[in-house]
Amino acid sequence: MGKDILIVGAGLSGAVIGRELAEAGHSVRIVEARDHIAGNCHTERCPETGVMVHVYGPHIFHTDDTGVWDYVNAHMRFLPYKNRVKAQSGGRVFSLPINLLTINQFFGQTLRPAEARAFIEAQADTTIEDPQTFEEQALRFVGPALYEAFFKGYTQKQWGCHPRELPAAILKRLPVRFNYDDDYFAHRHQGMPEGGYTEMVASILDHPGIEVALNTPYAPDMADDADHVFWSGPLDAYFGHDLGRLGYRTLDFERFTEQGDYQGCAVMNYCDAEVPFTRITEHKHFAPWETHEGSVMYREFSRACGPDDIPYYPIRQVEEKTLLRDYVTRAETLAGVTFVGRLGTYRYLDMDVTIREALDTARHFLRSRAGNKAMPAFVHAPL
Ligand SMILES: Cc1cc2nc3c(=O)[nH]c(=O)nc-3n(C[C@H](O)[C@H](O)[C@H](O)COP(=O)(O)OP(=O)(O)OC[C@H]3O[C@@H](n4cnc5c(N)ncnc54)[C@H](O)[C@@H]3O)c2cc1C
Repeated sequence: MGKDILIVGAGLSGAVIGRELAEAGHSVRIVEARDHIAGNCHTERCPETGVMVHVYGPHIFHTDDTGVWDYVNAHMRFLPYKNRVKAQSGGRVFSLPINLLTINQFFGQTLRPAEARAFIEAQADTTIEDPQTFEEQALRFVGPALYEAFFKGYTQKQWGCHPRELPAAILKRLPVRFNYDDDYFAHRHQGMPEGGYTEMVASILDHPGIEVALNTPYAPDMADDADHVFWSGPLDAYFGHDLGRLGYRTLDFERFTEQGDYQGCAVMNYCDAEVPFTRITEHKHFAPWETHEGSVMYREFSRACGPDDIPYYPIRQVEEKTLLRDYVTRAETLAGVTFVGRLGTYRYLDMDVTIREALDTARHFLRSRAGNKAMPAFVHAPL
């Protein structure tokens, strides 16, 4: 029997769109190239230690979108979790994001908030009136000492180029807090799914109108009997990369295990350029309600993404945006396919934004069908 909706990818985008359309009475077929659902949010228990591992890197759920918070909680109980990141720089450990504790420890001071603000302002390079690069932005707002210690080496490792080659927009306007708030995210809702993200996505997919085929990369003939295709794979991959490859950074994870508590926190950043990795993640600290003797760690290395690597972070510099424009123009000439999610629209998207956009996309589709209107290639513009 023909399936009316084909979805490529069983990550959050594909699962949420699939569920909305199945609820509306469509039959949905999802093809997934990997041997598991949940895309890059995939979690699985380490058979040796019992620790829940974030297989493609650490994922913390945080949002101000109460509708999305209710949506995920309807599929999995979320337990309270605050992301409190630590950073090593120059052989010392500090609190991130840079806050009053970081400033006082780093400069050996006991400043109060207003004093710290004045102190940092005195370090800032106010001759830079209109920062253009990441480096200028950092020097303009935090001055050379904090820039060198916390931003320069880390950014260089993460993006593979000097911060003066990156746009100012990558760094928030003032990446410093003048109080002791060390909660990495400033969102109203924050937590971790008790049973992991994959179990949550399994619940989203658990509908009689949805069929999921794992280990099944998309092939064009799959679309033959589909009424519409939602594509959450890489935009350029849909076209066989024939105009060139959109640039990404990929990550290598060096996994190791230890007994006990390895680093005392979930995420430790390594800011110095001489240390080749960007951070170490200790996964059991993402589930503080669980107890495990053993521990699983990931040392995380960032590098340019090759053709056989997993694309993680879109680069979106001038060159990539030019190529992106060409692919978008081409995609817009197509009928019957909509590009969605972080890869389909070549943007970094947090999970809450991914879910919100997926809900919007599904509703847009249902309205289009009801009104006999064509469904666009993009509900959320990549540019
Ligand atoms: C290192 C890292 C850390 C992150 N941490 C956080 C965090 O802490 N908090 C947060 O909110 N967000 C975080 N995110 C973002 C989060 O991963 C994304 O929001 C989410 O994965 C987007 O879901 P998606 O379905 O759009 O894409 P994906 O999860 O990438 O799913 C796409 C799926 O499509 C499949 N696919 C691709 N091509 C094909 C094909 N040709 N045929 C069949 N299947 C195909 C892929 O195998 C994949 O399973 C992080 C992202 C990264 C890279």
